[in-house]
Amino acid sequence: MKVAFLTLGCKVNAYETDKMKEIFEDAGHTVTGFENCADVYIVNTCTVTNIADRKSRKMLHRARKNNPLALVVATGCYAESAVKKGEEDECIDIFVLNKDKSNILEIVCSAVKDRTYNVCYDEKNQIEKKERTRAYVKVQDGCNQYCTYCIIPYVRGSLKSRNEKDIVAEVRELAAKGYKEIVVTGIHLSSYGADSGNFVKLGGRPLSSLLKAISSVDGVERIRLGSLEPRIITESFVKELASIPQLCPHFHLSLQSGCDTVLKRMNRHYTTKEYLECLEILRRYFENPAITTDIIAGFPNETEEEFEETCRFAYKAKFAQIHVFKYSKRQGTIAAKMNGQLTEQAKAERSQRLSIIEKELEELYRKSAVKEYEKVLFEEITEIDNKKYIVGYNERYIRIAVPINEVKDVYKLHNTIKEVHILENLTDGILLGTCN
Ligand code: SF4
Repeated sequence: MKVAFLTLGCKVNAYETDKMKEIFEDAGHTVTGFENCADVYIVNTCTVTNIADRKSRKMLHRARKNNPLALVVATGCYAESAVKKGEEDECIDIFVLNKDKSNILEIVCSAVKDRTYNVCYDEKNQIEKKERTRAYVKVQDGCNQYCTYCIIPYVRGSLKSRNEKDIVAEVRELAAKGYKEIVVTGIHLSSYGADSGNFVKLGGRPLSSLLKAISSVDGVERIRLGSLEPRIITESFVKELASIPQLCPHFHLSLQSGCDTVLKRMNRHYTTKEYLECLEILRRYFENPAITTDIIAGFPNETEEEFEETCRFAYKAKFAQIHVFKYSKRQGTIAAKMNGQLTEQAKAERSQRLSIIEKELEELYRKSAVKEYEKVLFEEITEIDNKKYIVGYNERYIRIAVPINEVKDVYKLHNTIKEVHILENLTDGILLGTCN
């Protein structure tokens, strides 16, 4: 069978898609690009916002359009919530719940058994090139935090951490396949290990111990952390992190709002003062770390003053990148029932204002790398304005491009880490560098 995948949403979904691809490939099936003709389309959906819901539905319909005779499979959090609500869509043949993703091969095989489906002879069909550069490793699932706006604890369930030994064995396999960078991810990564003890007393120790174990695996040249919650950032935890040479100085610390009263209504358990203290610790132990974050614009009852406080806070925190989300009402959450819901127009206007700040801060941070020597893990060849470049990321997750005509044996550069001298800004979001 030819099986095409599409992933929406978070890094956990990206990890789970990789796992599902592996299951199909190991069983001798061909993984192909989503735009190609396939026998089975698997869309790993997301439901974090209304936009994510819409995009999930759109991609399922696109799959149906790509091959009207294919089996279209919806999995992931949107699929999960659609099953719970009893929603149906004629373009979806089957739903696979998150807990059943590891059995997806059997579920799909039994669904296609008696089905006459199209065999794709499309010449353009190509096996997706495996980018053995960066691999996601999910170390925990679920969340017990119940932020008032978030539907995730209801669709992913409560906290479940994986065993350190199993994770390290998986990393060993990935490193043996050639992956250089491991992205350690989870739905609520900061809670890793908290299901086996008191989180506050543990002070992030299960996670730092896991990271140390991962760093001892041969071939792991970089470790990147997924999203962290500010409360895990203590002096002792960061000291442990700083002792891991492969750990990237890139920290995604969810903020959600830069105003204490809004944070309280969101049921986030920190203040802006405490958040700034976390940044101070990180900046003390790591040189110019990339601090990235998520901010929600237009939470229920957010006043203009509260929003402006968030804008001022973004400048104060000097974020390298902000993922701006327009508040999205998720049925079943506490925030969805709150009075004082803002109009779509007001939310859009605030998210636009915040996006302008994000662009300014992101550019400022990116430019701090100009004239520096940066270590880049080269991942792909891309064309920009009719010129070809080999492109990769530095440790601080800045995208850097080197013209291929300046490089000897460009294909040998793929999946290696090289020092690059940064010359200038090339285009939106990418810096130009030279290896010579
Ligand atoms: S910490 Fe909050 S925002 Fe993150 S998954 Fe848990 S409930 Fe959702």
